[in-house]
Amino acid sequence: GMGLMKGRRGLIMGLANDKSIAWGIAKALADQGAELAFSYQGEALKKRVEPLAAQLGSDLIAECDVSDEASIDGLFSTIAERWDSIDFIVHAIGFSDKEQLRGRYADTTRDNFLMTMDISVYSFTAVARRAAAMMPNGGSMVTLTYYGAERVMPHYNVMGVAKAALEASVRYLAEDLGKDGIRVNGISAGPIKTLAASGIGDFRYILKWNELNSPLRRNVTQAEVGKSALYLLSDLGSGVTGETHHVDAGYHVVGMKAVDAPDI
Ligand code: NAD
Repeated sequence: GMGLMKGRRGLIMGLANDKSIAWGIAKALADQGAELAFSYQGEALKKRVEPLAAQLGSDLIAECDVSDEASIDGLFSTIAERWDSIDFIVHAIGFSDKEQLRGRYADTTRDNFLMTMDISVYSFTAVARRAAAMMPNGGSMVTLTYYGAERVMPHYNVMGVAKAALEASVRYLAEDLGKDGIRVNGISAGPIKTLAASGIGDFRYILKWNELNSPLRRNVTQAEVGKSALYLLSDLGSGVTGETHHVDAGYHVVGMKAVDAPDI
């Protein structure tokens, strides 16, 4: 790589396996010389995350369940034992009861609404506050969102409501942390087949629809999300904060696609 991230250290949250969006981002950053730490949810994921981290030259991995404040504190104290400052974080975490990622949004339960908002929205704010305290020289933060925040998508339901709140928190955090030279942005990724995505009803149909109807007439990859994250997390994005940047083959600009074969 060109070394855009040389001398930069940061934390990747949300790596579950080599299909994770977090993996596409981690590889793009490591390729440019970044030093990485990883957090994983629960001991069961440790055996998957450890070898992936090692592949990118990292042995700094720590358990963190973002629904638990003490667990987040534990993660940041583990990182602080090794590094006195960090330059970036990636938050690639979301969760909802998959029984409610089908059927009607109207049927969302209070318990699942609160849990979805807690894990998928509040966690970014909780993490951002602690990360900012380790960024005396400024920094950059990225979270992952989806178009279901802006428009109604099939089965996205409460997760769409959560992503709308997440995008709003990106804007508020950008203002709060901007005076300390910390930038905060979201990447609105097009649909990508991952573990989390497989919980969404009719996900294959959503993938196909995006492929047929996006300006680029295809879906995006984890690696493409990785390259855009690199832009936002490196100096290339130094003038950008509070933004929701779409990496979706242009799907979000389409009102109605023209017919490719004109005389249908
Ligand atoms: P993934 O399943 O690989 O990653 C989701 C991660 O969230 C997992 O690593 C999981 O362990 C973690 N997680 C869930 N609950 C947690 C908790 N309580 N504490 C700590 N970690 C927890 O799937 P992904 O698609 O790579 O998802 C990453 C992010 O990208 C999510 O925010 C998702 O909503 C977003 N996103 C995904 C798509 C897509 O189509 N795949 C599109 C746009 C946005």
